[in-house]
Amino acid sequence: MPEDIVAQHHLLPEMKLLETRRAGSGGLEFVVEMTSKYEVCPRCATRSSSVYDRRWVTIRDEPIRRGEVRLRILKRRFSCGPCGRPFTEPVSGIIKGKRTTERYARAVQQACEEYVDLKTVRQRFRCSGGYLYSVLYRHLELKQRAMRKGWPERVGLDEHFFKRGKGFEKRQFVTMVVDQTGGRLLEVAEGRTGSDVEHAVRRLTNPENVRWVSIDLCDPYKRFVQDYFPNASIVADKFHVLRLPSAALMKYRKQAERGRNTAYLRNLLHKPGYQVLDYWKPRLRDWLKQHPVLEEVYWAKERLSRFYRIRSVTQAAKELTRLTDSLCLSPVPELRTLRTTLKKWRSAILNRSGRSPVYWTESAEVDEPAEGGCPQGTRVNYWTSRQTNARVEGFNNKAKLVKRRAYGYISFRNYRLRLLNACGG
Ligand SMILES: [Zn+2]
Repeated sequence: MPEDIVAQHHLLPEMKLLETRRAGSGGLEFVVEMTSKYEVCPRCATRSSSVYDRRWVTIRDEPIRRGEVRLRILKRRFSCGPCGRPFTEPVSGIIKGKRTTERYARAVQQACEEYVDLKTVRQRFRCSGGYLYSVLYRHLELKQRAMRKGWPERVGLDEHFFKRGKGFEKRQFVTMVVDQTGGRLLEVAEGRTGSDVEHAVRRLTNPENVRWVSIDLCDPYKRFVQDYFPNASIVADKFHVLRLPSAALMKYRKQAERGRNTAYLRNLLHKPGYQVLDYWKPRLRDWLKQHPVLEEVYWAKERLSRFYRIRSVTQAAKELTRLTDSLCLSPVPELRTLRTTLKKWRSAILNRSGRSPVYWTESAEVDEPAEGGCPQGTRVNYWTSRQTNARVEGFNNKAKLVKRRAYGYISFRNYRLRLLNACGG
């Protein structure tokens, strides 16, 4: 019978096929018995070969095509002299007390990763949601633990929204710790304070390896990086810096529009200047002339984006000084705030914290590096560690999809495991 050939592949060690039956909807049932001569008592390790009684158990196995496969096993209980109690024989490939083979669990877990949603897996394997969850998350947890992780040279930190809290709880955020060197997610922390992150990354080894950490402009991360990584320099993420004047730009643009539809100008306003076509430039300039406050915010934004295109760090440092100095006299309160922020994060924006001894000598606090203060060819490294949080933002996007696919997560533990799995952690 062809089924018997199939059966030979499904038998576990020390099993003998008695009969093959067809079950409903293309399924198969293999009736088997165990052939071992003796078993060892799990309580006292005494060998026993006297069978106390026999009983039938039905175990699920990996499906063939769409058909369910079941193993109907005649299991024996052996009597144990020293204990005075019988014990059930173990079957390799089936965990004690489980009603499925490990092979089945593995197939389910693979399907969980490959299928679009878990509901399809549940229907395909005809198992319960609870079983699915336990198999999947047990596997992901083991995979995580097996991975030995150390800190890389470049790290990025960013937060994103996780879920709404209940009642008086506020919105909950998570922090992603990204390995910028290897391009993978290292860890996910529940919360966005320094201690939250510190708690989450305690398993990672060698924090002294980290040289660059890119963060958005927020103090808790800054403090955490300064305390936790002895050799790291903070890099203020370029895109977060460029976004600083956006809110003011939007506010004054709305005031200037006064309900009129100026959609085309709106697009021009938020674009970097070099992307605006020559055709539009005079119209944009005329319009800005009519609204002096908006004009001032716009040029601040433009100067900031031009600042980021400067190639040499010396020039960049000079330009940043000029920019902050000119904002000092501005009548617009948002621009004065911008100046304060830029001044506060100056060293992080220019990628110099004065804590990089390989690159810096005593002149670290001075704007222009002293002659011979740094070795040839490394100058470009201050300004162009060229590290941004682009990849971290990409993972943020992926996180959104992971959440969406599952229609949201309640458990942070599960969310973390799925995210690490999706982002190559
Ligand atoms: Zn015993």
